[in-house]
Amino acid sequence: MQQARTTCPYCGVGCGVTADIEGGRITDVEGDGDHPANHGRLCVKGAALAETLGDHGRLTRPRVDGVEVDWDTALDAVASRLQATRASAGDHAVAAYLSGQLLTEDYYVANKLFKGFLGTPHLDTNSRLCMASAVAAYKRSLGADAVPCSYEDLEEAELVVLVGSNLAWNHPVLYQRLRTAKSRNPLMRVVVIDPRVTDSCEIADLYLGLRPGTDARLFTGLLAWMADKGRLDDVYLVQHTAGLDEALAAAREDDVSISAIAADCDVDAERLETFFYWFASQLHVVTLYSQGINQSSSGTDKCQAIINCHLAGGKIGLPGAGPFSITGQPNAMGGREVGGLANQLAAHMDYDSVGAPDRVTRFWATEHLTPSLPEAPGHKAVALFEAIERGEIQALWVMATNPAVSLPDANRVRAALEKCPLVIVSECMADTDLLPYADIVLPASSWSEKDGTMTNSERRISRQRGMLPPPGEARHDWWIVCEAARRLGFGEAFDYSHPGDIFAEHARLSGFENAPGVPGSEARLFDISALAELDRAGYDALAPIQWPVTAASPRGTARLFEDGRFATADGRARLLPVRPRGPEQALSAERPLRLNTGRVRDQWHTMTRTARAPRLMNHRAEPFIEITPEDAAAFGVGDQQLAKLTGAGGEYSARVRLTKGQRRGEAFVPMHWTDRFSGAARTGSLLAAHLDPISGQPESKHGAVSLAPL
Ligand code: SF4
Repeated sequence: MQQARTTCPYCGVGCGVTADIEGGRITDVEGDGDHPANHGRLCVKGAALAETLGDHGRLTRPRVDGVEVDWDTALDAVASRLQATRASAGDHAVAAYLSGQLLTEDYYVANKLFKGFLGTPHLDTNSRLCMASAVAAYKRSLGADAVPCSYEDLEEAELVVLVGSNLAWNHPVLYQRLRTAKSRNPLMRVVVIDPRVTDSCEIADLYLGLRPGTDARLFTGLLAWMADKGRLDDVYLVQHTAGLDEALAAAREDDVSISAIAADCDVDAERLETFFYWFASQLHVVTLYSQGINQSSSGTDKCQAIINCHLAGGKIGLPGAGPFSITGQPNAMGGREVGGLANQLAAHMDYDSVGAPDRVTRFWATEHLTPSLPEAPGHKAVALFEAIERGEIQALWVMATNPAVSLPDANRVRAALEKCPLVIVSECMADTDLLPYADIVLPASSWSEKDGTMTNSERRISRQRGMLPPPGEARHDWWIVCEAARRLGFGEAFDYSHPGDIFAEHARLSGFENAPGVPGSEARLFDISALAELDRAGYDALAPIQWPVTAASPRGTARLFEDGRFATADGRARLLPVRPRGPEQALSAERPLRLNTGRVRDQWHTMTRTARAPRLMNHRAEPFIEITPEDAAAFGVGDQQLAKLTGAGGEYSARVRLTKGQRRGEAFVPMHWTDRFSGAARTGSLLAAHLDPISGQPESKHGAVSLAPL
């Protein structure tokens, strides 16, 4: 028996696992006791990884126009059809839609091909649906998309605030770590702020079941309360920040009395003031937030309102302190690092970063190309599919994701895909909702086969190691992209023989002209140049490490901003004005229920992997509609009865589950089930495509629906 160390492919915790390999199969998976993210722990999804493997149901041969072909034929078709689209409709008529499931090396070459060599800015990722608002707020306030904290900070905090995060279900190993830390430290407090009573409340000292969409009001109220009670850290504010006066003035445009804030958020005033007092009186506070904050038409402002309170209290850059965004996907952070968002170029540089377009052009040696690097950001996820609908984008390459299910207004997305003249799909599984729209299907490798790196929510880069050969003719995503690039005439720039070569180039770019005194370097905290010289053995043996990893910090960096200097030109963090706004998807007499969407504990995304493990289906065997008994009575439905939700773009049918842990007037549905599993329970079809104007993140937590018995 052999044993290999790798990383779990599911959530943003990024747990290390050890896999036993026997007779060409992975027979068991356990938590890696040496991995700093989990110290040997696993949740049930990670523990069941071995049960989700096997060649059954895998895509094993390329297909062009529904006919199985060999790789040469498929890749020639990719190259010739992309070129034909560029020739007839322009370079910006081609686009790519990527995924937080890709490894960093896959992401890097895809971004390099589309932005660097095909000259189109239209490359975005499903991470747009997950954490784009958190990214935007970090950049605006701290100067860089740089999560300040480590998981240890959760354990060292005196107060942990979970807001918009059901940690117990969605990041279970972090929850286990927090629960253990709390049991060891009786002085630690946990506050849960969430419209639903979730399993995370089991360790809560205080629960605030706020009205959906009022998070920003709560935190702007907190900022004003801290100021009124003399609880600001004046020294920190003067030395390290700017913008307090403007942020406070905006907060005070609303009535900031406890009773008014409590009324707006629909929470008990005494409990609210207790939270304010706890937050203000502790220095070591971590506020941990996730999709409940980000998936909003004002998500960037909500993140900013949280960051404002941390800056105002000097609760950042210290052990056990900071505003901590937890990503949903395993490699959402790695995608950000390579430039996988449409507003980025590469290595955390945006289009408007000082000197970035010229620097990236020179690094990739694309000066001679026509077109050259795009000059402005491309379409973000939802807008990208709208551009397809308008006929502006005529060729789309989708890798490792399923926009036919996961995007809001998913039926409209399907219509756009139907219209798109060329859809290329790189995919592991033979039966997904997206494949019927594909003209060219490329079989990709999956977990246990893929080899590369991922970055988790605490900036920790870990190796995901290839242990088994891909089935049939499936190939690695980076190889597929590079072979297509070669046929497009860019072979020299994509001449990699191993993901380690790609990682080394990515690491070199992160440090390229990134030094004190070089304009724009203050914002380039993502620097892993100390890993650029790793040889193949060094890359294979790479131990988990948190960026930045530079000559000055060769062992990585656990915590950012400890010296109070931020990644802005003047070194100061920014408090910014936040004016709370409600959800864009308005309730009406026709659609009177507020729709909340989310994950369930034992499933992952569209269930292509997790549905293969019977024990993972036991937790929730089918889709459902969760409502209170009072609402059930009002709408004439009973427990376990089949019912139908109708939303902006479609319908969703499932059994009703009654719960008391939810506010009246609200429904909760899981996001996982697709037509393949349920026939009629696709959450994305219920949601209208309202976006945060800054981040472009869809408002997936705030639908408006009606309910009727079936
Ligand atoms: Fe995998 Fe996340 Fe569970 Fe860890 S917590 S085992 S990364 S799903």
